Amino acid sequence: MCFQFYEGKGYSEDFTDHMGRVIAQLEKDPSQEVKLTVATDVVCANCPNNEGGSCNSLDKVKRYDEEVLKACNLVEGEEISFAKFTQLVRSETIDKGLRSSICEDCSWDYICRPKEKESKRTVLVDSQLVRSEIIDKGLRSSICGDCSWDYICRPKENETK
Ligand code: SF4
Ligand code: SF4
Repeated sequence: MCFQFYEGKGYSEDFTDHMGRVIAQLEKDPSQEVKLTVATDVVCANCPNNEGGSCNSLDKVKRYDEEVLKACNLVEGEEISFAKFTQLVRSETIDKGLRSSICEDCSWDYICRPKEKESKRTVLVDSQLVRSEIIDKGLRSSICGDCSWDYICRPKENETK
């Protein structure tokens, strides 16, 4: 979940350098599989809270991770593509407004909270734009009239006119 709001700030320069490299490597090939863990992982390598391979805030971090996995219907140890995991975290936690109930007590909440609000606003603006610029202008059928689901959308579109 933290990747979705990360903006290069972190516990130390070593941490942010490493975090940036991890994210770049995952984004280079989002189809690569990641193993889900609620303990210290690859992200923790250069974190000052990592004391000999164990996080000194583990209780809190474990609670966040477990709640995210539960919301996404995933389990620890599961392997899943980074793309699928990112998409699930977005749809099952952030888009459902669960982020703050999961990690409101995190010290970085002041960064993630406004970004979460902004991403909700963007989705709303996008859906309003699609309605006003495509559906309300009667362009849907010219865009996707040959879709196999057209028979479902066409009467709904007519009802909204
Ligand atoms: S508030 Fe903390 S735990 Fe929650 S998404 Fe942001 S960095 Fe991650
Ligand atoms: S889980 Fe702990 S060690 Fe890992 S990045 Fe977060 S605070 Fe640092």
